[in-house]
Amino acid sequence: MAQEADPPPPPPKRRRRKPKLGDTRQLFARLREQLAAGTASLADLAKLVAEGLEVDASVIYVTRPGELLELAATWGLNIGAVGHTRLRLGEGIIGITASSGDIMNLADAQNHPRYVYRAETGEEAMASMLAVPVKRAGRTLGVIGVMSKEARTYTTVEVESLATVAMLLAEILAKAGAIDVSDEGFSETLPRRYGGHVLSGGIARGKILPYGAAAPIARLLTDDPETELKRLDEAVETANKHLDGLIAANTPGGSASRDVLEAYRMLAQSSGWLSQVREAINDGLTAETAVDKVARSLRERMRRITDPYLRERLADIEDMIGRLMVALGGMAPKPERADGMILLVRRLGPADLLDWHTRGIAGVAIEEASQSGHAAIMARALGLPALQVDRGAVENAQEDDDALLDAEGATLILHPEPEVIAVYDRALESRSQRAATLASYRDRPAITKDGTELKLMLNVGLALELDQLERTGADGIGLYRTEIAALAAGGIPDIAGQAAEYGRVLDRANGRPVQFRTLDLGADKLLPGEPAPTEENPAMGWRSLRVALDRPAILRRQLRALLLGAQGRPLSIMFPMVATVEEFRTARDLLEAEAARIRPAPERLDAGTMLEVPALLFQLPGLLAEADFISVGTNDLLQFLFAADRGTPELADRYDTLSAPVLELLEKLVTYCQEAGVPLSICGEAAGRPLDALAFAALGVTTLSMSGNAILPVKSVLVEADLTALRPVLRELRRAGAAGGSIREPLAVWAREHNLPI
Ligand code: PEP
Ligand code: MG
Repeated sequence: MAQEADPPPPPPKRRRRKPKLGDTRQLFARLREQLAAGTASLADLAKLVAEGLEVDASVIYVTRPGELLELAATWGLNIGAVGHTRLRLGEGIIGITASSGDIMNLADAQNHPRYVYRAETGEEAMASMLAVPVKRAGRTLGVIGVMSKEARTYTTVEVESLATVAMLLAEILAKAGAIDVSDEGFSETLPRRYGGHVLSGGIARGKILPYGAAAPIARLLTDDPETELKRLDEAVETANKHLDGLIAANTPGGSASRDVLEAYRMLAQSSGWLSQVREAINDGLTAETAVDKVARSLRERMRRITDPYLRERLADIEDMIGRLMVALGGMAPKPERADGMILLVRRLGPADLLDWHTRGIAGVAIEEASQSGHAAIMARALGLPALQVDRGAVENAQEDDDALLDAEGATLILHPEPEVIAVYDRALESRSQRAATLASYRDRPAITKDGTELKLMLNVGLALELDQLERTGADGIGLYRTEIAALAAGGIPDIAGQAAEYGRVLDRANGRPVQFRTLDLGADKLLPGEPAPTEENPAMGWRSLRVALDRPAILRRQLRALLLGAQGRPLSIMFPMVATVEEFRTARDLLEAEAARIRPAPERLDAGTMLEVPALLFQLPGLLAEADFISVGTNDLLQFLFAADRGTPELADRYDTLSAPVLELLEKLVTYCQEAGVPLSICGEAAGRPLDALAFAALGVTTLSMSGNAILPVKSVLVEADLTALRPVLRELRRAGAAGGSIREPLAVWAREHNLPI
């Protein structure tokens, strides 16, 4: 694309007035004319923008091989700088805009700490700057900026207008071939690394599959707003019909949740965003471009909002936007197969993860997830490498980019260099060697050096995980999450189906103990088709046993199925999310009522409870008199103890199981349970972390239940450990850490000094 030769255009000299909506409309109309005529050059565009927004200068930078940005056009700055001025990605305001993907709106750009001065541009006369990244299908193609001599912050209308021009510019660049987006040399094909947190260990190599980002929009501008408004109305109607379907399917006969859904619909429709979309269509954008534009500015606002209530409300609108984009054809449906691919998503529920697993993915990176969230648990159950990845990855990845998911070192690498691939291949090799070493522990009993006998049990939820009983030599199943099969099946099976499943589990356990947990649905474990909870705090909402006790029919059916499946064999059942002894008693009474009707009666029937709600800790005498066993669910217990959502990545490292308050709680619990003669186990994810398991064993917990891939690593540490030597060290560390911080590091140092394979 040719840049106009001299003479350099004089900077426009006009008194600034507030841009009106009409200006934007005019700007888009002129852009459309130029695009339609196929004559648009970058220089024309720079001029149009400067005039349209009434600024003193505009610049267009495009990405060049080697992570560079080159000045490709300007209006108002020295034209001689075009083709010469270059900035590295991350250098100066333009470079930061490109690397962060964020809009920069600076009243005093030259005093920004990372401002970089380029004398050849003549930009010293400019005070303020507004820079917007130019992106297409997740790739940053350049940056468009406007500048003014006057120090001022640009208005929302100006920011949104320039953001829309940036969308158009992306299409112009791609169509005109100024940028070949498939060119190997561009910065997007250089390696890019994203950090995060490991959700499920492992390494995967494959093509990336970003899902959930909007697809490139084929038609951006229109001269027929009427038709576009009609398309929008039809899409709104389609989205509403879908919502109607959800309401009808989930609230037979009408109920409180119908009101909630209706309220959601009202909110999604009534808030000003739909009129913003209409306004943008009247400005000359197609329906999907207009929805996309409003979505972008919404996301920008969401980033700045910390109030969780407001965030949720905006998320509701974002959900509606997603539905509209699908209805308008601006978002792709799921692909049939995704064999060997690395899925990259913003959020993911366990049912969806399972769905993707059946489509063949080799690993998954999720922007909003945490270690004890259910997607993570599901990934571990499936042995699928999974990573919580830094925000921005979804936005910046392009389908079919080469990727390396390192869910050991907590990194996602797009376009890894050959040398890096070679390093990972070696790592894969050493992993298989370690697996061979661990396998040698399979048949050894879990007895520590000081002679403490431990039971290492499995957490499972899917039939395919039962193989792990043999593979790991586990002592039994400490937590059978019955809801996982329901999530996998897309609904709760009938009594016969459930009984057959539970019977098969007991068959496979072959006399080893199994603790079945009744359905723990709700919060992030939603059956397909169920609407996302509209409660403010679903994890603390109407879920799990709370629903079961209010609507006992489902629980009674499940208890009957468990008794039938046992066929006279010993049966252990535990209830999730118990908050009071009374709740436990009610659930146990239901079990006994069912048990009285079923023959053959189980040889032994135990009713226990999960300990996940802190209030239960203050009812221990009553609880221990009634419960046959207790299993601590550290995932939920910690989130309620520290008031820290288990699904929030920002909190993932903030509070630790290995800290004085948690260890003190567990120590007291051990003493109480021992005195009452009630078996105690820990089945939260912490039990599967070798260092945590070591500390729990030192506190006197003798049964630990964990996912299959944790059994051998935990056992390999415990059998080499001397708990008698560890106890005084642990006491000292707890004293030193009385302020509540983590004692993980010093404990790990001790473990390594004692040659434990941590
Ligand atoms: C827990 O909360 O620790 C637990 C084991 O239950 P879930 O992870 O299924 O909520
Ligand atoms: Mg739980």
